[in-house]
Amino acid sequence: MKRSTPFVCSFVVILSMVPALWSQEKVDLETISRIRYEGFHNSKVMELASGLMDSIGERLTGSPNMKRANDWTRDQLTAMGLSNAHLESWGPFGRGWANQYVNARMTTPDIVPLLVYAKAWTPGTNGVVTGKCIRATIEKKEDFDKYRGKLAGMIVILGPDAEVKPITELPYKRLTDDDLAKTGEYQIPGERPPFRFAEFLKRQQFMKDLNQFFADEKVLAVIDHSRGTAGGGTVFVQSGGSYKPGETTTVPQLTMASEHWTRIARLLQQKKDVTLELNVTNTFYDDDPMQYDTIAEIPGTDKKDEVVMLGAHLDSWHAGTGATDNGAGSVVMMEAVRILKALDIKPRRTIRIGLWSGEEEGLLGSQGYVEQHFGSRPPMDDPNMKGMPTLLRREAGPVTVKPEQAKLSAYFNVDNGTGRIRGVHLQENAAVAPIFEAWMRPFKDLGMTTLTMRNTGGTDHLSFDAVGIPGFQFIQDPIEYETRTHHSNMDVYDRLQPEDLKQISVIVASFVYDAAMRDQMLPRKPIEKPLPKEPEKKED
Ligand SMILES: [Zn+2]
Repeated sequence: MKRSTPFVCSFVVILSMVPALWSQEKVDLETISRIRYEGFHNSKVMELASGLMDSIGERLTGSPNMKRANDWTRDQLTAMGLSNAHLESWGPFGRGWANQYVNARMTTPDIVPLLVYAKAWTPGTNGVVTGKCIRATIEKKEDFDKYRGKLAGMIVILGPDAEVKPITELPYKRLTDDDLAKTGEYQIPGERPPFRFAEFLKRQQFMKDLNQFFADEKVLAVIDHSRGTAGGGTVFVQSGGSYKPGETTTVPQLTMASEHWTRIARLLQQKKDVTLELNVTNTFYDDDPMQYDTIAEIPGTDKKDEVVMLGAHLDSWHAGTGATDNGAGSVVMMEAVRILKALDIKPRRTIRIGLWSGEEEGLLGSQGYVEQHFGSRPPMDDPNMKGMPTLLRREAGPVTVKPEQAKLSAYFNVDNGTGRIRGVHLQENAAVAPIFEAWMRPFKDLGMTTLTMRNTGGTDHLSFDAVGIPGFQFIQDPIEYETRTHHSNMDVYDRLQPEDLKQISVIVASFVYDAAMRDQMLPRKPIEKPLPKEPEKKED
């Protein structure tokens, strides 16, 4: 147990009061039983998963598949009986992109196929190209000079040494009681949020400078290796260039399986010539710079002007089919509203589902929706901050809320893979603890036991939290999220855990139902105050 501070003891006191407080929270166990039955005995979640992952596939924001997924989810929600299913645009986002063909093979000293994926928002090779390889380790602009004039027509094998180790720990994980106890402990933050946006911008600028350097040097292509040490055919791939019009990189970029990349690196280290043959076809799409969120509702009754939302991001990265990130979150949300419709639930508050695009590029879809409906902070002068979410614009000034903001009781999000729910992150909102304690009780037998005051970041509930709307993400078992599926080519249907997805769908349907039926809206915490401008950092 941490050293007791007034804050911790007050929360422990609150927690110790929870049993008394939660018992005052009415929970309609009869309906909860019906939700469990429908979700466990008549589940459609894996059919939805195959429809999204197998029939549509990867859903990179801006890609044709992303639009297909928006249309498909809208039509599925309509077919489930939801009302007003429609697409809401946000943006402009920028250029769409998709890969149609990728092939790489070594031709000297050996002839062998290589496992590679094109990085998003990079160009193709315009047919088959062949080139010699050269190793480059470039971590800062000063490193450019080492390679100036040496890279023309070459294939750059880029990055620090790749390490491949035998898998010693199970890549599959469920949270232990000890893990959950630790999660329940609260860490007192410093004043300034840990996320230093300036560093993020610096990294972005470096990537632009590096791409420009390679273009100036007339490099044939750039190949880096997958992250992590597991290897084994799992390749983690993201973007290699900007999706903003006028900022498109001109150099083809690929990510290679570490085992294949290290063979080339060793040969180059031995001063042996390595020649590769590449053939990559990528397409940029400029027909529509706007992107879309899928929205649909179960209309309320006596409190129908008040709303409870649930959601998840529908977009994904492109090497797999975006199954655990975040097809899982999308289909459990769809299944949750399907369950409520199948039971002909008549909620008091309107229940609204949101399936967002643009999450992987910075929570852009949920941010766009929140800005249009609920509120935002003022824009910032800095051109780098254009289009950046409210949660990153704390220096810009106070949040201006819109009338709808007062009518949204809560937003529930799922975006941590396929693992079952073990609890909820309270985002420092202590007043909801006894309420969630009561709502959580009917699921103790399914492993849901833990509330933590901790914030959790990096996904769409933050867009709502940033404008003072209670936004929550659930604690989930990691399964293989970090070790295999998160942004990899192995993020596919087979990595989904059906029983876990059924558990998540049932719990989400129940929490949303409880929130829609409750007499009061959920209690709120104050909106974060603006941050003083960060002092200009002198370039070191
Ligand atoms: Zn995600």
